Amino acid sequence: MVDTPFAFAPGQLDRAAHLRASDDVSKDPRALALVFWRGKLLAADDGHPVAVRLDHPALSDRRDHPIFLGLTPDGPRFAVDLPLWTPPEDAATIGQFVDQSLQVHPAWPEARLVEVRSVMPGLTVLEGECVATGRALLTWHSTHRFCANCGAESNVESLGWVRKCPKCGTQHFPRTDPVVIMAITRGDNLLLGRGPSWPERMYSLLAGFVEPGETIEAAVRREVLEESHIEVAAVRYVTSQPWPFPMSLMFGCHGEAVSDLITIDPVELADARWVSRDDVLLILAGTHPDINSPRPGTIAAALISAWADGHLFEATHWHN
Ligand SMILES: [Zn+2]
Repeated sequence: MVDTPFAFAPGQLDRAAHLRASDDVSKDPRALALVFWRGKLLAADDGHPVAVRLDHPALSDRRDHPIFLGLTPDGPRFAVDLPLWTPPEDAATIGQFVDQSLQVHPAWPEARLVEVRSVMPGLTVLEGECVATGRALLTWHSTHRFCANCGAESNVESLGWVRKCPKCGTQHFPRTDPVVIMAITRGDNLLLGRGPSWPERMYSLLAGFVEPGETIEAAVRREVLEESHIEVAAVRYVTSQPWPFPMSLMFGCHGEAVSDLITIDPVELADARWVSRDDVLLILAGTHPDINSPRPGTIAAALISAWADGHLFEATHWHN
């Protein structure tokens, strides 16, 4: 297995797009499905996904045919959603910044429905790719049930990779929203910021959505200028991470700042600051007085760590 510096790295799932045209792959006796509910993943106590047979009785609690993710060495893998199930306990904490609640479905009393962020650092590369693909696709289906052209309810086709409108014939394809996330440096300092709603002591790299008509590089410069008033000159793409919250692709970049003075946009940021390389090493070690170490598995943590270690521009470091 390739050792990757962050979660959801690609490379081990054969997406086998040629099999999406028929339902035959669903009949493979080795076919198994990852189970999702409101974006959460059915997982064992050790955090690894629980894969279940497609004919499991509890999977009748769903609206759509399972989505075909691809072929693994152990057989075809699918993702299914359980949108119609409601847990008995109070669900008030579901959807918080880091949802700590766990649900138990009666069909799988030994397993838990867990927030994907909480288990992502421990997933194998293959599990991570399946989980990222399944979560993003299921979220897309749950939020794009109706044709954007005429408003009729659309049908799932191609084993989950297309929705087609029965009224006007328009085909709709799964979305991936491009996001830039950037290690902005000025000499031996790195720019870190924190969002207004983030937990205390949590800082990360600046990030934002790419807008229509924009390049990745232009989006990096615009976002940094808008959020911190720092001007950025040279921008280089480094690596990317699928980010299924809900359906983004993170473009990890490096940018060279050509100004120092930070003026934050208070709508976007609660704070931003230049942090020295020595301080970044303390942050990564978990011993910095003000800033916690970044969340493991994220591209932000990988970029920060690679910059601190001098690996940021080594292509072999990234494996993708
Ligand atoms: Zn339509």
